[in-house]
Amino acid sequence: MSARIIDGKAIAAAMRARLAEQIAGLTFRPGLTVVLVGDDPGSTVYVRGKDRAANEAGIAVRTIRLPRDTAEATLLAEIARLNADPAVDGILVQLPLPPRIRSQAVLEAVDPAKDVDGFHPLNIGRLAAGSPSLVPCTPLGIMRLLDAAGVALAGSRALVLGRSAIVGRPLVFLLLGANATVTVAHSHTRDLAAECRRAEVLIAAAGQPELVRGNWVGQGATVIDVGVNRLADGRLVGDVAFAECAAVAGAITPVPGGVGPMTIACLLENTVTAALRRRC
Ligand code: NAD
Repeated sequence: MSARIIDGKAIAAAMRARLAEQIAGLTFRPGLTVVLVGDDPGSTVYVRGKDRAANEAGIAVRTIRLPRDTAEATLLAEIARLNADPAVDGILVQLPLPPRIRSQAVLEAVDPAKDVDGFHPLNIGRLAAGSPSLVPCTPLGIMRLLDAAGVALAGSRALVLGRSAIVGRPLVFLLLGANATVTVAHSHTRDLAAECRRAEVLIAAAGQPELVRGNWVGQGATVIDVGVNRLADGRLVGDVAFAECAAVAGAITPVPGGVGPMTIACLLENTVTAALRRRC
């Protein structure tokens, strides 16, 4: 293995420590409310992690748990209440929502100024227009990771593998904002391997276990693995075949311990950003 490992866990811990220091210096405690509908095991674990990290940073965090059969109107009324609550700076509705509830209607109901997930169309539009406000946490975390790892983006060839609304698309706008030359690849891309090989910065967010093979990676490229995939044997792997790609890449993120911790750190950052904008 030749690649430098980009330690997302350590970079996120440093970021969280800086945020805790910043929060300790404020005259108020930023407030974050997480809304969890149902008892999806994955979501429950994620929410617990967010709750713990926010608490440790000094954020006044509260989780509202609603039963799986909650009506959409009840959830919308809860969000309206949180929008009006001056102690709440950030609102996060944990996805996925039960199928009966229209996720888009719920995301659009959150006050854009409290939208710490950055999923409201107004925040997405601002990002697309080049004046980002609250930015989705995973793409923001990837940018913070690249910055902390000293990866120069201006003028570089970056490839985003995946075009989802929560990772791929917002990341494209952030990379453009950092002056990278950006290619977006997806399930209809012809010769994906060749597209990947051209990239100096390759970011895989396809949700396909170990899709990116060693011979898809250019010599010395930076590889960021966003994927979190549980295999039948219980192993957790990314979208990148780690050992093969690490032999060719210049720098690479592991799974776990790469992008995941950065997502949570950026949720805290967004909460502080929203609180300062609302209150100062
Ligand atoms: P998604 O399923 O919504 O989107 C996947 C994208 O990848 C789609 O645009 C699709 O066109 C593309 N794709 C799928 N298969 C492909 C293939 N074989 N070839 C080329 N393109 C292909 O997924 P998502 O929500 O963007 O998540 C992607 C991955 O990132 C998942 O593994 C998810 O668990 C993980 N994720 C991690 C974090 C984190 O904090 N670490 C956060 C969000 C998502």
